Amino acid sequence: MRFNFTEEQDALRREIKDFLEKEWGEEARRRAEEAGDMASDHSPSFHQKLARRKLLALNWPKEYGGRGWTPIEMAIFNEELGYYGVLSNCYRNTMIIGSAICHFGTDEQKKKYLPDLAAGRKLFCIGYTEPNAGSDLASLETTAAEDGDEYVVNGVKVFNTGGHIADYCWLATRTDPDAPKHKGITVFMVDLKSPGISIRPLYNVADGHGQSELVFQDVRVPKENIVGGRNRGWYLIAKALDIERINTGVRARHQRVLEELVEYCKETKRNGIPLIKDPLVRQQIVQLCTEAKAARLIAYKVIYQQSKGEIPDVSASMAKLSGGELSQKIAYLGMQLLGLRSIIHGSSKWSAMEGKLEYMVRETIPHTVGAGTSEIQRTVIAGRGFGLPRG
Ligand SMILES: Cc1cc2nc3c(=O)[nH]c(=O)nc-3n(C[C@H](O)[C@H](O)[C@H](O)COP(=O)(O)OP(=O)(O)OC[C@H]3O[C@@H](n4cnc5c(N)ncnc54)[C@H](O)[C@@H]3O)c2cc1C
Repeated sequence: MRFNFTEEQDALRREIKDFLEKEWGEEARRRAEEAGDMASDHSPSFHQKLARRKLLALNWPKEYGGRGWTPIEMAIFNEELGYYGVLSNCYRNTMIIGSAICHFGTDEQKKKYLPDLAAGRKLFCIGYTEPNAGSDLASLETTAAEDGDEYVVNGVKVFNTGGHIADYCWLATRTDPDAPKHKGITVFMVDLKSPGISIRPLYNVADGHGQSELVFQDVRVPKENIVGGRNRGWYLIAKALDIERINTGVRARHQRVLEELVEYCKETKRNGIPLIKDPLVRQQIVQLCTEAKAARLIAYKVIYQQSKGEIPDVSASMAKLSGGELSQKIAYLGMQLLGLRSIIHGSSKWSAMEGKLEYMVRETIPHTVGAGTSEIQRTVIAGRGFGLPRG
């Protein structure tokens, strides 16, 4: 067992760090946090820079314009992006959807969609969740009925991250109402400019306008927009969720906040004594540093399994559970340590740590919900990981 990266992987990390130091920088990160996740997310000029360095499509095979990177190299890239606070759509757009098109798409679909994704010109949103189908996603009700060379789509999707700025929706629909619920689902790529689609904003505590509601009313979608085959959608969704659940970038961003908290405690005195010398503060910080290390190792296990072609469902759920809950703990410990000044926005001279904690508290509220709630992760781990009977 080795816990080291290779020399090439270390060199790659340095290359990405150098790139981010130059092209992103602290100022951009501050602006991003102030503007909120989605506003900064599709920063077109930064996406062009990533695209020019072929950094948007890096895990795709070279023949599709990617760099053919393995899951380990991808994790390094994501960690550095996260550590530098880059809030980017590329995770969803190219790493989740683009990879799925490389894997499951037809030759025509690859030709049509991949170049635009790799160049940062087009954006996908993910249309899974519905008002009556979240945790139990397989019970989704949006229908796609065959009609000649097309399907006619009717239904409502909610919580679409970036739905309002996306060009296409990666849409999960029910195509066979008589089949068992996991077996009658088909994924389509739908042009969001198609007649019959209305998009309404959903404002959330973290991002402002980060999510949207998409309503589909008699929307005609060509048959050739089916991905991975009719009624094979569940397989695509499960595979994509395993990628989404590790999100090493977000964890690295919060790891950096934890490091900054340690620095703050070294520099800040209460009653003439540095905070870091307070036994209670030390206990709390060491506890979270240990949990952060454990969460990172679980995420690495997922990446290792992916690189071996194994299905990492249980580890992916463990990574999602540990990472999501840890982020909230860091945010709340930070608030306790910084006191009242932690709730003041970073634009004020009275804010502590440039308002990072007040943003992080808001930002991490949805982290135990999006991509599957903590309860659902525990259910997956209990059943598939430990063979416990269903509750
Ligand atoms: C920031 C954010 C971004 C998102 N982005 C997208 C996106 O881009 N595309 C998309 O399709 N969706 C997106 N989602 C939706 C997300 O996937 C769902 O919110 C999530 O799957 C939970 O579904 P729900 O909100 O309907 O909750 P519900 O399923 O209604 O659950 C409500 C509560 O009941 C609990 N619960 C439900 N079933 C069980 C069970 N069997 N055992 C124990 N407890 C249970 C849940 O844990 C939760 O606490 C996003 C959500 C958030 C917060």
